[in-house]
Amino acid sequence: VKPISKIASAIAPSATLAISALAKQMKADGIDVVSFGAGEPDFNTPETIKEAGIAAIRANKTRYTPAAGIMELRRAICNRMKEDLGLEYEPSQVVVASGAKHNVYLAIMTCCDPGDEVVVAAPYWLSYAEMIRMAGAVPVEVRAEASAHFKITAEQLEAAITDKTKMFMLNSPSNPTGMVYTKEELEALAAVCEKHGIYVLADDIYYKLVYDGIEYTSIASVSPAMKEQCIVINGVSKTYAMTGWRVGYALANPTVAKAMSSYASHSTGAPATMAQWAAVEALEGPQESVEEMRQQFEKRRDHLVERMNKVPGVSCIKPQGAFYVMMDMSSFVGKTMYGKVIENDGDFAQLLLEKNLVATVPCTSFAAPNYLRWSYATSMEQIDKGIDRLEEFIANA
Ligand code: PLP
Repeated sequence: VKPISKIASAIAPSATLAISALAKQMKADGIDVVSFGAGEPDFNTPETIKEAGIAAIRANKTRYTPAAGIMELRRAICNRMKEDLGLEYEPSQVVVASGAKHNVYLAIMTCCDPGDEVVVAAPYWLSYAEMIRMAGAVPVEVRAEASAHFKITAEQLEAAITDKTKMFMLNSPSNPTGMVYTKEELEALAAVCEKHGIYVLADDIYYKLVYDGIEYTSIASVSPAMKEQCIVINGVSKTYAMTGWRVGYALANPTVAKAMSSYASHSTGAPATMAQWAAVEALEGPQESVEEMRQQFEKRRDHLVERMNKVPGVSCIKPQGAFYVMMDMSSFVGKTMYGKVIENDGDFAQLLLEKNLVATVPCTSFAAPNYLRWSYATSMEQIDKGIDRLEEFIANA
């Protein structure tokens, strides 16, 4: 049999899924692992949303839906986007897909030809670079330095743009850095994108998880021109603790939205019908649980950051959104721990898991070498236990 395609053989498996799968397996084997690997809320889906999914099944809402999603959901999305972000779209501009992840993929496939360049602010969510490559396009990294609070500037963006640039991808709040761009910073980036007429993929999936009382701005809302160029990505996974339901959505100008929906119609079709009805309830029903979960995340962030910054040899910047902290472990590179020379974040993460049973995600695959990503989508007790173990791990090395 002939080899698999060049594109498929170049795809790296998801490092985050790999480490959380390993931690889950160790737990299933009865090993007391404390896991900070999760990319999902630890809360359960709120009861009213679960009931809406069950009711949909009972009412036989079990058949195919239009590829872009049921009209009720597309309307609910338009209303929520208007209320929360001041963004006005028609239901025909909404594409519902099997998770925001698939929306990102559809957007890239719709806007980019092989050889086109896509500028990505690094550190970035590891799936971005792989998806760009899957389209035959070329990821171009712009490095956001820790000294700049992991945010890129308009000058850096301008310098990265060439004749081949088709798209700029921005994720705020960011996975893995947790940083949130201000309205002014977004305006400066938008001006560059407008000047060059490039698409902007605005991954706003963590928009409800912002802290310190800051007000969230979507880059799509800074000007009418920017809205026209933007593909806004969002979904119910993180906001409503619905990662397994697989419902995400995109909002775009009519041409892009129509092409994305055609692409989806020939590849997956719409997400599960009952999951779409549950998402309608999520977006239209009571919103109190969203704020309750946000407050829990904020408390955990404060606690984790405070404790982490007291551990000798490591440090972190306090993030303003999402549920991740990036721990700088560069002071250990080149040192010997437990008889092994630490060459990178991967070595450190593996030893920490083996010796003290703490699972984290090495950030090399997020284009952030010598950092470990800690997700605080876990309880306060687990956070304390994890940091206690980190202290022991470092002290006994
Ligand atoms: N975008 C970012 C930055 C993410 O971190 C994730 C999930 O980890 C997603 C999109 C995709 O979310 P989903 O496919 O569950 O809607």
